[in-house]
Amino acid sequence: MRTRLTEMLGIEHPVVQGGMQWVGLAELASAVSNGGGLGILTALTQPTPEDLEKEIRRCREMTDKPFGVNLTILPTIKPVPYEEYARVIIESDIKIVETAGRNPEPFLPPYKAAGITVIHKCTSIRHSLKAERIGVDMVSVDGFECAGHPGEDDITNFILLPLAARRLTIPFIASGGFGDGAGLAAALALGADGINMGTRFMATKEAPIHEKVKQAMVEASELDTALIYRTLRNTARVFRNGIAEQVLEIEAQPGETKFEDIRELVQGVRGREVYSQGDLDHGIWSAGMVVGLIDDIPTCGELIGRIVEDAEKIIEERLAGVTSARESAPKWRQAANESA
Ligand code: NAD
Repeated sequence: MRTRLTEMLGIEHPVVQGGMQWVGLAELASAVSNGGGLGILTALTQPTPEDLEKEIRRCREMTDKPFGVNLTILPTIKPVPYEEYARVIIESDIKIVETAGRNPEPFLPPYKAAGITVIHKCTSIRHSLKAERIGVDMVSVDGFECAGHPGEDDITNFILLPLAARRLTIPFIASGGFGDGAGLAAALALGADGINMGTRFMATKEAPIHEKVKQAMVEASELDTALIYRTLRNTARVFRNGIAEQVLEIEAQPGETKFEDIRELVQGVRGREVYSQGDLDHGIWSAGMVVGLIDDIPTCGELIGRIVEDAEKIIEERLAGVTSARESAPKWRQAANESA
């Protein structure tokens, strides 16, 4: 498959692995890139900018294909030296950056000067248009189905993607709810240049997380996610575990919720232990609605290959079959075909 995404990033398949806190390590990013997609390291998973530099070097030893780095700017418990992380990205000669959270405008001049392709993750059309206006190269349009931060508008990809196709000139990637070939075919039909997957890549052999987490994703249904931090306007879609239920109970109490009321429960370091120890109720961990579509744990290469193959089959056989079935078409349809 060739799209503006594969052309601009120099990758084989239109499949991107988005930034994921505690999961976007070299093992996963390199496996996705080696599988023909675009792997992305998550900058803030590294405790310091120096550690990010080492992780980029480690990833280069594991793949000679293109990979990117995600630098998300959202509220954090400890202050983050974002400029330092950005400096490491530039000095390490990374050529693809995924930005998310806040407006990336202050970072664009140095990224552009370094010849970096910037993909900005947006959860609304107004933010996508703004991103195009300020000069990002591509947007990742993140629907309400997604894991992590879906924004506050709650618009699903069936609306967001056609709107993006109508209004944007730059290429865009469909993100949120994708995990199989039908999803890729649908994203292309809706106007996107490819798909971004996070949750689906967590349930792969190379994802650097505990087997119990992967198994929980296989067993989960589409009902097993929850939206927390709604009351703080920093909504996050996470796996519906005991901690998420406790946070929801606190948020449902009358009066204003203060971050202090839930801080102890939600700290990222507890979530990191879920991934490393496999204790599913130790902290908050991210998952999108697509958990309902996950039923195995393949390698990243197998997963990408299968998604592309299935999408091609859907486009070339099922969809082409639908449009070519003229003889059996109803009379009104035949007449319409003839006059066209
Ligand atoms: P952390 O330990 O600093 O905070 C834990 C959670 O609480 C995060 O979701 C954070 O956004 C939220 N939070 C912190 N302070 C807050 C406040 N004052 N008000 C409201 N919410 C607050 O986070 P971490 O696990 O070390 O992750 C670092 C950052 O990267 C976070 O902002 C996280 O959201 C973000 N991130 C998100 C994604 C994603 O959406 N998929 C991916 C990568 C990173």
